[in-house]
Amino acid sequence: MKIENKIDKEMALFERALKVMPGGVSRNTIFRKPHPHYVASASGCYVEDIYGVKRIDFVNNMASLIHGHAHPDIVEAVSEQLRRGTAFSLGTEIEIEHAELITSRVPGFEKIRFMNSGTEAVMSLIKLARAYTGKPKIAKAEGAYHGTYDFAEVSQVASPDNWGPIDNPARVPLAFHTPKGVLNDVVIFPFNDIERTISILDKYAGEIACVLIDPVPHRINMVRATEEYIQAIYDWTRKNNALLAFDEVISFRVDFEGAQALYKVKPDLTSLGKIIGGGFPIGAIAGKAEIMDFMNPARKPLPFSLSFTFAANPVSMLAGKIAMQLFDREAVNRLNNLAKIARNQLSEAAQMANIPFCTAGEGSMFRMYFSPTPPASYREAYADDKLKQIQNIFLDLMYDEGIMLINSLSCMLSTAMTQKEIDLLTEAALKGFRYIKPMLIV
Ligand code: PMP
Repeated sequence: MKIENKIDKEMALFERALKVMPGGVSRNTIFRKPHPHYVASASGCYVEDIYGVKRIDFVNNMASLIHGHAHPDIVEAVSEQLRRGTAFSLGTEIEIEHAELITSRVPGFEKIRFMNSGTEAVMSLIKLARAYTGKPKIAKAEGAYHGTYDFAEVSQVASPDNWGPIDNPARVPLAFHTPKGVLNDVVIFPFNDIERTISILDKYAGEIACVLIDPVPHRINMVRATEEYIQAIYDWTRKNNALLAFDEVISFRVDFEGAQALYKVKPDLTSLGKIIGGGFPIGAIAGKAEIMDFMNPARKPLPFSLSFTFAANPVSMLAGKIAMQLFDREAVNRLNNLAKIARNQLSEAAQMANIPFCTAGEGSMFRMYFSPTPPASYREAYADDKLKQIQNIFLDLMYDEGIMLINSLSCMLSTAMTQKEIDLLTEAALKGFRYIKPMLIV
């Protein structure tokens, strides 16, 4: 197939899209220049584009498809459910079953409540923390991604011209004209930096409802929080009547019990999403019963109202339940082991190409860096324009070689993958490494 034809077909779709959607997309994630790529179908870990070209999918819809695409058990069960109805303003048994499954998986998940997305989960968690503690502020790490609730997105993107001193990071609005009130009620700290974090939290002791932590923050550096860091924040929250909240929307995949299994102390509340929906929209908050009960609609007065039209719809519940049943301890271990193999093979390929390289990550997710060690902080990770350009060239090369990666050069493995796909990833990467090598040498 001629390249011109390929460009024409996708360009033609994009031109139609531009007429009806701003920028031609409904998700910024798929936007790319000169146009998004368009998919025809997918199965397991392979995605076929509209030209019939198949690629291995290491994106997995931003880490949400733990078994890859169209897992036969999920397809069969959901197809049957579609005929029985997809959304009711009534309770369903499948919702209870999914709640039983997830709460039985993690000791600290005494109760759970479902939403439609990770954003809704984090938003609801923040409201719950305020309602429970009676305090207005939340604290979050600079550069951490927690979805698009106003408060959760403060300092998601901070840059050298606006991030302020590291001892007192600025509260950087993401959205134009974010109200000052929102910024006032978000405290920003540098991730994994115990001394600075605690001294910043101390300044607002008495006002903080919860400290929100993604234990393996993919947007910062994908280096997990240290045991000491989590312990220090936990101790601070105990002393200051605040909640420790983990955002495990992505990191839940790293262990059978989520990333919280990696720490001695446990969060009071956890936000969930992605993989627990089995490929369908989902979000959830799980945690201590006493706190969760603030969402009990029978409570009087009701601390805050929470009702999402499609929350706990039977399609997401059924698909999620099957996906999580299949992602048992053995499956988690197998996948985590495959990720280890992939990281080792990529490092070997980088050695062969003789380029600076390392990976960071946990369990079945990792990120590649063209440096000998991962950046230690968000500020260190903030790539300069030249490095970003090289990353984009590498990303495009990998796509042409049949490998789909997340823009940050991250891989999210699925259980549909085997050694064969890891070998193909490594082969493509070796070609890519050799191609970008001259660009890395200044
Ligand atoms: N929290 C984290 C840690 C996430 O990674 C994401 C999504 N990437 C969200 C929250 C928001 O989830 P959603 O896109 O489902 O709203």
